[in-house]
Amino acid sequence: MKVGIVGAGMVGSAAGSALVLRGGASEVVFVDRNAALAAAQAEDIAHSVPFAHAVRLGAGGYEALAGAGVVILAAGVAQKPGESRLSLLSRNAAVFHEVIGEVRRNAPDALLLVASNPVDIMTEIALKASGLPPERVIGSGTVLDSARFRWLLAEHLGIAPQSVHAQVLGEHGDSEVLAWSAARAGGEPIARFAAQLGAAITEDVRARIDEGVRRAAYKIIAGKGATWYGIGAGLARICQAIRDDQRAVLSVSMVTPEVEGVENIALSLPRIVGAQGIIATLKPELAPEEAAALRRSAELLKETSLQLG
Ligand code: ADP
Repeated sequence: MKVGIVGAGMVGSAAGSALVLRGGASEVVFVDRNAALAAAQAEDIAHSVPFAHAVRLGAGGYEALAGAGVVILAAGVAQKPGESRLSLLSRNAAVFHEVIGEVRRNAPDALLLVASNPVDIMTEIALKASGLPPERVIGSGTVLDSARFRWLLAEHLGIAPQSVHAQVLGEHGDSEVLAWSAARAGGEPIARFAAQLGAAITEDVRARIDEGVRRAAYKIIAGKGATWYGIGAGLARICQAIRDDQRAVLSVSMVTPEVEGVENIALSLPRIVGAQGIIATLKPELAPEEAAALRRSAELLKETSLQLG
């Protein structure tokens, strides 16, 4: 499967690199308004191919997207230190309107994978601008936050994150909801698993992990200006689920008819991802306070969406 990446900045290039390292595509092409940057990223990443998987790399104008099965939308302006994701909105909405028309003309069969922030609102904008059905416009959403949650739980338990199933729901941003009540390790509820290992999840541990997930982006931005490796790997993971029709359960964003009483809003829930895009959405059983937090997250996104018109 050919993957197009519009926006060859840190996130787009990290996704391209992860696709090569994971073998997640047969071809990756970059498009950026900075054509020299797109070409340079393609060449730099191509030099990793002999150490990784036989992926063809390229760059060009929008016509280079022809035949892509997925187009990752990573164009936009970067989050400034201390800037909330939602304040990025107006700057990035304008970029998207320009980009999506071109993508649709040149790669009419591609699924759209939205990475630009604030990703949930950008997913809604991409849906409207593209005219595609909602299941074909996927936002990376909380795929990264869920990875952070699994990683921090795994660190606490001293086990592999692959053995931890835990998801972050709602907005990819400050109002996101860590679904503690649904978290599992080795098939056991996380608290029981932790107690057996003598690594109880106390209130302090829980608060530290919650903070670690929720504030991760701010902390990394303070240190290096932006985040890219984690999201790049997450985008490559989603592409593989599509390419191989894996029907993998991933927490990704999509415009959803109803969540906790809030209608037509893009946010993340556990969803089954395959060749046709999002095949089904799961409704996790949440504790009452988690369901209330998910409702608040949905309401907040709805407000932003309405402000945008
Ligand atoms: P991030 O950290 O989100 O990847 P960057 O600033 O590193 O942010 O990358 C964003 C990329 O999007 C830049 O390379 C920029 O040139 C590109 N870009 C911005 N606007 C457009 C546009 N209208 N069309 C194509 N590419 C764009």
